[in-house]
Amino acid sequence: MANLIDGKAVSAKVKAEVRDEAAKLKEQGISIGLAVVIVGNNPASRVYVNSKKKACEEVGFNSYEYALDENITQQELLDLIDVLNNDDKVNGILVQLPLPKHIDENAIINAISPDKDVDAFHPYNVGKIMIGEFSFLPCTPAGVMELIDSTGVNISGKSAVVIGRSNIVGKPMSMLLLHRNATVTICHSRTTNLLEICNAADIIVAAVGKANFVTGDMVKEGAIVIDVGINRLENGKLCGDVDFEAVSKKAGYITPVPGGVGPMTIAMLMKNTLTAAKLKANIK
Ligand code: NAD
Repeated sequence: MANLIDGKAVSAKVKAEVRDEAAKLKEQGISIGLAVVIVGNNPASRVYVNSKKKACEEVGFNSYEYALDENITQQELLDLIDVLNNDDKVNGILVQLPLPKHIDENAIINAISPDKDVDAFHPYNVGKIMIGEFSFLPCTPAGVMELIDSTGVNISGKSAVVIGRSNIVGKPMSMLLLHRNATVTICHSRTTNLLEICNAADIIVAAVGKANFVTGDMVKEGAIVIDVGINRLENGKLCGDVDFEAVSKKAGYITPVPGGVGPMTIAMLMKNTLTAAKLKANIK
């Protein structure tokens, strides 16, 4: 039976470290602020935004919410980003995605100042990740790395498979594993020999968005299996991309859903916001 990787415990540790550092900065007169922008009434986005605001409270950051009408124009949103880019109280800017269809998400991401881009979605920060000179790491992949590290297993030289190639999860995930000297294979919707590739993997990160996609026969005995997926079943329950019941019988380590990667994403957002404040204050 696999060891369970407890995302709640690991995220609590990361947040406690952030809170301690934030408290020290406060003693030096430095307050930390995160601006959270939400457009429209997407219920899932509202849940995420509320969790991010709550996390800010936990670590002692100020959070500034901008809840905008669904029909706001792209220019109005760009104008707000411009104000936030120039607001000294704001260290990090988070625009909750997805945005309504009439707004070009890339135009908005590109408008965020790279040094306040705590999601690490701006092409400048994406490029820095590619060359390994990053200040901010994308929150979900960075959280996955913390979870893998929490097992104590050395990533170097391991065979790692990332299923999914999105800009938010799959691609940066692969890059972070590569920086840590894993031999990385990226699988996607056109991959033909997924079973064979996964069977050889020491580490599998599933970011597909399909319930029970990773089955027991895909996993090698003792492998680390990280489940990024969030899927809602017909009965309303949340589940990941991994068939937990079958895979946990073979894996060495596995993350649950919920309680695995999800809490880490928010913890890493807090860490990035702290980093932004330290960079601004020239503190290493
Ligand atoms: P996405 O839809 O952008 O990407 C899905 C990827 O899966 C694609 O790259 C596609 O090529 C791949 N894929 C689809 N079918 C496949 C198949 N048959 N074989 C192999 N690969 C296949 O999704 P995303 O934004 O990367 O998110 C993936 C999942 O992770 C979703 O469930 C999302 O909700 C979840 N997610 C969770 C967190 C978190 O904090 N836990 C954060 C971001 C995303």
